[in-house]
Amino acid sequence: MARKIDKIFIHCSATPEGRDVKTETIKSWHVKGNGWSDIGYHLVIELDGAVKEGRPMHRSGAGVRGHNAHSIHVCYIGGMDKDKKAKDTRTDAQRLSLDKVIENLKMDHPTATIHGHNEFAAKACPSFDVQKDTAHRNRKRRRQARQRQRPNQRRRNERDVDHYKDEHQNDFVVC
Ligand SMILES: [Zn+2]
Repeated sequence: MARKIDKIFIHCSATPEGRDVKTETIKSWHVKGNGWSDIGYHLVIELDGAVKEGRPMHRSGAGVRGHNAHSIHVCYIGGMDKDKKAKDTRTDAQRLSLDKVIENLKMDHPTATIHGHNEFAAKACPSFDVQKDTAHRNRKRRRQARQRQRPNQRRRNERDVDHYKDEHQNDFVVC
């Protein structure tokens, strides 16, 4: 039976900027290290922007305690500077891929809201403010929509995200 998805969570791998950690490595940390059945995330965005599949979408992930049954977990590689402090280390390719991933997931799950792990736990993960990012993305999307003059489809996207609040506090604790 298909899971009902109401939240999309963004994570980072909490690995230092520029370190080219692959999805298989994260998987081995979770399976061999943590003893889980599979990698905790459903999608991983590697440094070069490649989007890799992790745990199958029909299965609950392991990303946010108490919120796994009805969510999808997306993780980008990075999230720390060289001194292991929280830092938004997304490469341009990762930003583009993340935008695309979110856009696609929103098409499949139009009522799902997008969150950073840090909105639900005292963690830095994903080392950026997902709500601000979402607001920014939507401004961009509205601009592009006006240029393209396809108001109907775009307006629906805007309505889905208009209720996002832009008040998230950046009290990062390294995850
Ligand atoms: Zn996380």
